[in-house]
Amino acid sequence: MRKISIQIYFSLLLLLWGSELYAQNAEKKKKPAPLTPKEQQMLTTLTEKEEQYATLAKEIWSLAELGYQEEKSAQRLQQTLQEAGFSITPSVAQIPTAFVASYGQGEPVIGILAEFDALPGLSQEAVPERKIRVEGGAGHACGHHLFGTASVAAAIAVKDWLQNTGTTGTIRLYGTPAEEGGAGKVYMVRAGLFDDADVMLHWHPSSKNTANAASSLANKSAKFRFYGNAAHASAAPEQGRSALDGVEAMNMMVNMMREHVPSESRIHYVITKGGEAPNIVPEFAEAFYYVRHPEMQMVKDIFDRVVKAAEGAALGTDTRLEYEVIHGVYNVLPNETLAALMFKNLQRVGGVQYTPEEEAFAEKIRTTFDVGKTTIDAANEVEPYKVEAKGSGGSTDVGDVSWMAPTAGMTAATWVPGTYAHSWQAVAAGGTSIGSKGMMVAAKTLALTALDVFKDPSIATQAQAELLEKKGADFKYESLLGDREPPLDYRK
Ligand SMILES: [Zn+2]
Ligand SMILES: [Zn+2]
Repeated sequence: MRKISIQIYFSLLLLLWGSELYAQNAEKKKKPAPLTPKEQQMLTTLTEKEEQYATLAKEIWSLAELGYQEEKSAQRLQQTLQEAGFSITPSVAQIPTAFVASYGQGEPVIGILAEFDALPGLSQEAVPERKIRVEGGAGHACGHHLFGTASVAAAIAVKDWLQNTGTTGTIRLYGTPAEEGGAGKVYMVRAGLFDDADVMLHWHPSSKNTANAASSLANKSAKFRFYGNAAHASAAPEQGRSALDGVEAMNMMVNMMREHVPSESRIHYVITKGGEAPNIVPEFAEAFYYVRHPEMQMVKDIFDRVVKAAEGAALGTDTRLEYEVIHGVYNVLPNETLAALMFKNLQRVGGVQYTPEEEAFAEKIRTTFDVGKTTIDAANEVEPYKVEAKGSGGSTDVGDVSWMAPTAGMTAATWVPGTYAHSWQAVAAGGTSIGSKGMMVAAKTLALTALDVFKDPSIATQAQAELLEKKGADFKYESLLGDREPPLDYRK
């Protein structure tokens, strides 16, 4: 009897000891390893330079230059990189504002993406109520002024660390213009600029701190132009052929098609030109279409069916059709190897802590939109890690990059929790210290993630194996926008 109870006692002890060990291991997994003194030094330097980078971001915020017209913004970022010792290749891929900055030698080659284009019509002061800064002007409603600056800050921090530690490898900063509908990165991918990149990192301004293995929707757009014959709509209608009829017939057929496409598909259009006056049979009409789906191949197939509807519409209305592909982007291929690493580093860095003034700004601006279930504290929290293999919502030209090299991204709370992208509230917070604090969270997380790969290049090999498995061995890149030239005047 006594023997049994001693046995039970020891088993219990073993069990407790085991679970203690398990708890310690789980804790180890949860808590990343402490930083080395040189990593710590890199973060300290970034913190010291926060004001300098905040000034640069504010300058780009004030310039608010539109896609492919970001001359001054691109210039300021290149100048900062050049002064830090990077060599610059300006005007790549036949785009005056696209550039590549590089430092170091050999492998691995780690690239960081930097966007800097603004959005039309969203000019706003850095105040918590709607106040237009420049009438009819543009605004950084997607926070790309922070995006570009944080990525440059991260690249410079990594360069200093490579130099201080004598580590082999190349750090590159890709200046990628016209993300908003201009698909700048796709032309850069097409020009082969990412062919030798081992790992690509990026981030995006947001109202949350996240680092997920998340996808996005593939997207292809085109303008469908119909040409008819003008005639008096009442006195000689038989002489006329209505281009607007072409557009309407096309729209009707596409709207019927909606029932016969996979449910995650998105097709949206606007009529950009519909005629001049009811008493003139319209000679010219135009519809602008977007087709989206989580899978790039499905976008290609649905887009071809939309073209067939347009051709059928032209035939039936005796009009002539021309169409021009405007842009096309792949879905993002998430890379779990890199995403987990990025998440670990985001946890190390942590979120954004507001001062009482920033909190007052946040509270005031939150009265101007539906805050839902969000709380202000979310700015200081890191959301749990998620894997979302199937994209939903938006599209990005990071998609094409992610099929070329394993790619990971994150978001930082540069906007007050609950804020949506492309809103005046995003412009407002992005122009304050709330924006620049979030920007530094991104800069630090990106830099630490690059360091991890430089210290252990086998991570790049593992990430590449994952990419190869996901895209398939026989994958050959073909841009969704075909061989069209960059639409340098699409915002003019
Ligand atoms: Zn955007
Ligand atoms: Zn954006």
